[in-house]
Amino acid sequence: MSSWRTELNRCLIILGITGIFGLVIGELLLVWLFALAAFVVISLYQLRRLNFWLLDATADNKLEPPESFGLWGEIFDAIYRIQKQERKASQFLEQIIDKAQESSAALEMAFIMINKQGNLDWWNSAGEKLLGIKYPEDRNQSVTNLIRDPRFTEYFHSENYDKTLKLEAPGVSKKIIEYQIALFGEHERLMIVRDVTQLQRLENMRKDFVGNVSHELGTPITVFKGYLEAIIDNMEELDPKWEKPMLQMKQQAHRMENIVRDLLMLTALETKTLPKQQDEIEIAKLISEIESDTQQMFLDKSHVFTIDSDETVIITGKRSELYSAISNLVVNAAKYTPANGTIKLSAKRNEKFFDIAVEDNGIGIEAQHLPRLTERFYRVDVSRSSETGGTGLGLAIVKHILMRHDAELEISSEVGKGSAFVCKIPLTRITNKDLSNNPAISESMLEPNE
Ligand code: ADP
Repeated sequence: MSSWRTELNRCLIILGITGIFGLVIGELLLVWLFALAAFVVISLYQLRRLNFWLLDATADNKLEPPESFGLWGEIFDAIYRIQKQERKASQFLEQIIDKAQESSAALEMAFIMINKQGNLDWWNSAGEKLLGIKYPEDRNQSVTNLIRDPRFTEYFHSENYDKTLKLEAPGVSKKIIEYQIALFGEHERLMIVRDVTQLQRLENMRKDFVGNVSHELGTPITVFKGYLEAIIDNMEELDPKWEKPMLQMKQQAHRMENIVRDLLMLTALETKTLPKQQDEIEIAKLISEIESDTQQMFLDKSHVFTIDSDETVIITGKRSELYSAISNLVVNAAKYTPANGTIKLSAKRNEKFFDIAVEDNGIGIEAQHLPRLTERFYRVDVSRSSETGGTGLGLAIVKHILMRHDAELEISSEVGKGSAFVCKIPLTRITNKDLSNNPAISESMLEPNE
């Protein structure tokens, strides 16, 4: 502001002096015209210097501004200061980018940025190692062209990236690669790729080990249990002090048998994929079968068991597995509800899922246990669970079965009030029985969306 005023004052003084001079020589207008022309020429000259300096400064951003005085000097200096600040900021950004690139180059995991058209934008050096992508040749290539596996294409376009995808590395058999994608910005994607061959090998070894041990234990347990039963049947020949230990041994042998059976089932669920040819399961029939198979348990504890099932629904899946999942939940509800309780089993469609819910008014579960209930051998109360003869594997089996059917288990519970276990089956697995051929069922019973 001050130099602007100085500049204005200078102009007024020059105007005054030239005015006096013009009056003296009697040519006021002519003198002012000359003064104005001189002003224009000086201004044009300074503009030209500014222009040339700016042009040169784009090539060499450290070029000092031309020396000048007054307002023009201040303009040059201000532009130079802004340039310096920008240079500092961009240097800082460059340093950050360099550091990010160096640190990501040291990682074994590949980070790949994919633009909104689905083309490769940037990747670290692990990207080249794991997927064989080369810079700059593969830049802007479509990612689904580089990873040519229909499972990857489906995963990439699904935009549901809650789970990771494991596949054999492109062109390298026996190497397992895990892909995980996250959406960011304007529909861009960050893909994280890692080599999980070793992890997968260990995981397979674990599964094989558990499967083999369970299988090997089967025969000794059967023999052991058989002899024990024979001894117990002839208990009168034994000293009475052996009666209690024998009965306890029989109970524990039975538990061991159950654990081995459940472990074998879990191993089978983990290692064998669901067959392509699946069953068309009438859910109402399946539920009434479970009802009659568990009836004795409910009678023993004087529970009330109510069923509310959609009569028309058919689920596509493995019948024996769904039977096992639902009956596990029903047996648990009966086990963990004190006598004279109420257990409800309902199977109903809602907007998003077909829900099979088992609700009880039993002991309930504290909130802190809920996220861990489906882990193997996790029990809320170990003593109570062994009293009830549980293996701690039931809910893990339920979870695996549901996962194989693209479904989920939702658990809610309140201590002292009861629990609800809901199997959320996707509607893609649901069809309705064709009721038109069944005169016993009238049209009005059909759902409106059929
Ligand atoms: P278990 O064989 O011990 O019953 P599960 O895997 O079936 O093993 O269940 C894990 C734990 O979850 C059980 O030990 C029990 O503490 C708890 N649980 C399962 N179902 C219920 C229920 N309906 N009510 C209360 N607790 C339950």
